[in-house]
Amino acid sequence: MFHKASLKLASLYLAVIMLISLFFSINIYQLSVDELNHGFRNQDLSQEGGPIDLLPQNVRRQWLQDQEYAYSEAKGRTFDRLIITNLFIFVVGGAVSYYLARRTLQPIEEAHAAQSRFTADASHELRTPIAAMQTEIEVTLMDPNLTLDKTKHVLNSNLEELGKLTALTEGLLKLAQLESTEIEQTNVSISDLIDSSIDRVAPAAKAKKIKIHRDEKAKIKVLGDQASLTEAIVTLLENAVKYSPEKSEVRITSAADGNNAVIQVIDQGMGIKPKDLKHIFDRFYRADSARSKTTADGYGVGLAIAKNIVELHGGSISVSSKPNKGSTFTIQIPIE
Ligand code: ADP
Repeated sequence: MFHKASLKLASLYLAVIMLISLFFSINIYQLSVDELNHGFRNQDLSQEGGPIDLLPQNVRRQWLQDQEYAYSEAKGRTFDRLIITNLFIFVVGGAVSYYLARRTLQPIEEAHAAQSRFTADASHELRTPIAAMQTEIEVTLMDPNLTLDKTKHVLNSNLEELGKLTALTEGLLKLAQLESTEIEQTNVSISDLIDSSIDRVAPAAKAKKIKIHRDEKAKIKVLGDQASLTEAIVTLLENAVKYSPEKSEVRITSAADGNNAVIQVIDQGMGIKPKDLKHIFDRFYRADSARSKTTADGYGVGLAIAKNIVELHGGSISVSSKPNKGSTFTIQIPIE
């Protein structure tokens, strides 16, 4: 599809180049012919009553023939040169046009490939739980000894799965929105961001008896979208709580480093294996240990969204981690 589009675009570029080249060639040819006409025909020698008339008839005819021959020779040479020049421009212009067309279409091609990958990944992620729910319902319906208790159990399990699916679709929607919209720019206090983020994870932390400590080294403001930035920090705090043992500690720190606001979320949890670290911000990526952990629900879109949000603010997000020791997630955002 993109190869065909490249060829079409290259042909268009080439047509424009050739139109310009032909326009100049025709003008150059016209000018050269005029000059030659002027040079050969209007010479004083050949004028009626000029010195040429003094020559004998046959010498004069020969001289005029030679002149005519030289004139058409010069005209032909100009024409040939212009044709060769145009052929050269056609070949080189064709190659350059194709190269430029490929370069023009490359970002669109990449975006298209990413979109297809995203659709395929999303469909896969949605299909698995839906298929599991369908099987569970079918098996239950076929059970001749179906009791009210069993039915309630299946409905509860389906409800739980539906809750996760809702979270996933909301996450996907958020990702799509982030890719297509501009962020709102207001003055946002990092301190306020941390406040509202802690408020949102407090119930989950309390349930696991996890203490969240905050350590603010400076009052910093950044330019950005309050709701999105809170979302990114909440994701890090939620993960810290989700992947940490009960009664452990989670720390959130903020400081200014040069022209950046640096926010860190540090936990004492299960950590991340080196092989998973480089994929942790990919959409739908979940480390094996998290996948097998039934208590840790999620679909691996949280960090991808957080990364998107931070990058939309011109910042970066990184992680360092040691298995069984804990992880440190760092967000850097340029200060106003
Ligand atoms: P999920 O919904 O699975 O938590 P995320 O995108 O938020 O999705 O995280 C992706 C994966 O990164 C998780 O499945 C988990 O394996 C790993 N992860 C994220 N945060 C932590 C953390 N603080 N400690 C250990 N592993 C983590």
